[in-house]
Amino acid sequence: MELTRLRGFRDLIGADASAMSLVEERARVLAERYSMKEVRIPVLERTQLYQRSTGETSDIVEKQMYTFADRDEGETVVALRPEGTPGVVRAYIEAGLDRTDPEQRLFYSGPMFRRERPQKGRYRQFYQFGVEVFGRPDAACDAEILIMIDELCRDLKVPFTMEINSIGDQKCRPAFREALVQWGRAHWDALCDDCHNRIDRNPLRLLDCKIDAKLTESAPKSLDYLCGECRAHFDTVKELLIAANVQFIVNPRMVRGLDYYTRTAFEVMAGGLGAQSTVVAGGRYDGLVETMGGAAVAGIGFAIGIDRMALALQAAGLAPAAAPDAAIIAMGPAATRHAIVVARNLREANLNVEMLSPERKMKALLARASKIGARAAVIIGDDEIARGVVQVRDLKHSTQREVTVAEAARAIAAAGKE
Ligand code: ATP
Ligand code: MG
Repeated sequence: MELTRLRGFRDLIGADASAMSLVEERARVLAERYSMKEVRIPVLERTQLYQRSTGETSDIVEKQMYTFADRDEGETVVALRPEGTPGVVRAYIEAGLDRTDPEQRLFYSGPMFRRERPQKGRYRQFYQFGVEVFGRPDAACDAEILIMIDELCRDLKVPFTMEINSIGDQKCRPAFREALVQWGRAHWDALCDDCHNRIDRNPLRLLDCKIDAKLTESAPKSLDYLCGECRAHFDTVKELLIAANVQFIVNPRMVRGLDYYTRTAFEVMAGGLGAQSTVVAGGRYDGLVETMGGAAVAGIGFAIGIDRMALALQAAGLAPAAAPDAAIIAMGPAATRHAIVVARNLREANLNVEMLSPERKMKALLARASKIGARAAVIIGDDEIARGVVQVRDLKHSTQREVTVAEAARAIAAAGKE
């Protein structure tokens, strides 16, 4: 048996992992600035949770879940979470918040699992940073969520476009649904096999067909079917986005793949990603908490695809390479004892420092210092200890300076600059 990783699962080492952490950290800082609280939920849940919320006819539940019977008495059928929203809603209800303190602003971060065909930007284990806001049915909340996403993409400096739409609510969606069914039947021969199945089970998904994107140009638009209240809600969202100077495009044929969305739906696409360009997706889900057994509380949320956002950063050359400020080189046992303390002090001065092996030759150590990308090498021998100094070598310019131990941090910080 070959002990290789599974298809669609990735090892992320160094720069690839750091790019993901960078996205996560920025998202976390921003979520806190928007007064959101963290929620951590299980990776394993009952399969039923996703059947009930994500929806029996969604691609996720129909064909992408990792699901199996647990070995407990009842052989509970469990699934690795394919998305975060159902677990967060379950946790919210289970904590009684829908009744005791319904207005909640929550964020989560972690791995999700979907058994889909792996390709660039599409993996079987991937990471999402998500936000869920409960108890806020107002359009100002939708606008603030979109402003937050705009702010994150600007902060990360990735080129992006934001698309928004409204897919109506329980009152006006049936008419739109019916129009899509009629359209689908009229275009039956041109539709793919997946879409033939969607017509009766989940007609909104006809618009999400990746195979026949061109064909949908003749399909009905959700905006033509909105009731007065949904229209007013959508108009206010747009008005607030304009007031906040957020650039967006209305895409009247955008739908979301999950069953629980109502009214506002949105997607953000980033450049440099090819086919898998959607980096953020979400929308309003006013009926979901009630569907899952809780009180009638409104909800809205989104998830950032961390893997794809990290790829976008890397494609734009915006992911900083991690390299130490200084490599410490000690010549001999006495110098090692001294150097280990110097290294600690430099770290306390907020420098990133790697102490190299004292058991190798100077030439090999200087080569190593360059290889790890250090800006400076700090060289310490017996003579330096006696005089209370260190040699700081600027590895970019190949210049060397003797400074006192107290001056070392400043000399390192100056190394490698133009
Ligand atoms: P897609 O249409 O690309 O399959 P989706 O509608 O299934 O996306 P959501 O469930 O809304 O996506 O998830 C939100 C975001 O999570 C996506 O926009 C994407 O950035 C990311 N994402 C979803 N599935 C994957 C995956 N298999 N691998 C990597 N990222 C993913
Ligand atoms: Mg998908």
